[in-house]
Amino acid sequence: MNIRKNDLVKVISGSSRGKEGKVIRTITSKSKILVQGVNIIWKHMKRSQQHPHGARIQKESPINVSNVLLVCTSCNKPTRVNYKTTSGGDKNRICKKCKQVITES
Ligand SMILES: [Zn+2]
Repeated sequence: MNIRKNDLVKVISGSSRGKEGKVIRTITSKSKILVQGVNIIWKHMKRSQQHPHGARIQKESPINVSNVLLVCTSCNKPTRVNYKTTSGGDKNRICKKCKQVITES
């Protein structure tokens, strides 16, 4: 999976198309991600000590990683990535548009 936590991504298909947000969680086994402010659903909470009357809360729902593009940290454009291995053996993600390394936060 080429998307990592804290990456900025742009949604390119589905109902949230066009939205941008920060990745808050990746679910590698399902190739899905949670993106801040994208694909919000209402979740019903059962009665508990914290919510004695029950509650409805808004929560991000996972979207498929193929529905987003990574936003480059250099040129700020949504892009697909290439990989480049450094002399130290790390894999860097390279923006296909500006050829700069996409940094992780
Ligand atoms: Zn770029």
